[in-house]
Amino acid sequence: MGKMYRCRYLAHGLYIHYDCFRHCHLSIHSPKERNNNYIIPYAGPKDKADWNKVFEIKNTLVKNMRNGDIPPFCQGCHWIEEFDENSEEQFLSDLDNYIDMIWIGHSNECNANCIYCFSYQEILEHRTYKPYDIFPLFKEMLNNKIYNLEKAPGAHISFAMGEPVILKKFDDIIKLFAKYGNKHYALYTNGIKYSKMSAKVLKEKDVDIHIVISLDAGTREVFKKVKKVDKFNDVCKNIKAYAKSAAKYHPTSLGVKYIIIPNINDTKEEIDKWLELCINKLGVKYLIADIEEKWFVRQNGEVPEYVKDLLRYIRNRCEQEKIAFEFYDRALVLNL
Ligand code: SF4
Repeated sequence: MGKMYRCRYLAHGLYIHYDCFRHCHLSIHSPKERNNNYIIPYAGPKDKADWNKVFEIKNTLVKNMRNGDIPPFCQGCHWIEEFDENSEEQFLSDLDNYIDMIWIGHSNECNANCIYCFSYQEILEHRTYKPYDIFPLFKEMLNNKIYNLEKAPGAHISFAMGEPVILKKFDDIIKLFAKYGNKHYALYTNGIKYSKMSAKVLKEKDVDIHIVISLDAGTREVFKKVKKVDKFNDVCKNIKAYAKSAAKYHPTSLGVKYIIIPNINDTKEEIDKWLELCINKLGVKYLIADIEEKWFVRQNGEVPEYVKDLLRYIRNRCEQEKIAFEFYDRALVLNL
């Protein structure tokens, strides 16, 4: 029986970048192909989003992928699913025209200077970049059911670039989506600024906000080397407060990450301090490990055994401590 392929994000994902729409922000396994992951130009309310064109492009790629013609920017991606041409489930809704996953990536503004940041690279490469007001676009998408909560009640929005909680309209965006019945949010934040709105959502039973904070250190000294700001204590305080808010209904909605960066934080001692801090002092119930991407790409994916051992060590400790655990992108594709 023949095999077919799909990706839920190719079908219904929209990464809103500062100058264009993309299908997702996940083509990191093939960074050279990042620029091919492109749908149409869009640089703010002065442009009219051509949704017919968006869905025409998506439909063509989805049909091609179903038949085994994988777009170059998707090749090797762990999100590609395989199914049998004769199976009962044919995923025909992949050809339906709606968005159910938005990554918000129109702003690079941040209050940290992480040495691994993509946004920083983007700023260097695109010096004309200017943030724009994303609010009108969201209103249009919700009013016209482009973002369609009827067809996809599990739809979610993800703040995926820059530091989201310093966006002027961060709270307004959450409120707008909530007004239309949105139940799922994801927030990638550095944790330096506390968001009362996020803490409020964490406390709600029927709504979920998945918060990920990359701490990358167990000590203030190493934190400063990674983030280039002296805010370790503030971040720890905010993690503890979020963990408390999440405790009743969504204890694993707060994830704290350790991105291993060779020569900066790649020691068992530092990882032990991070584990001790997160588990025993801050009350975190979900930990994540990854490898620094730019280093990984420079290495052509050749990861030394000691880094793999550190990743396995984090996983083992989480198992022992009965803490939820996940490998993210680079660590995930190593299949440890
Ligand atoms: S297969 Fe991967 S790269 Fe392609 S659209 Fe899906 S998530 Fe993005």
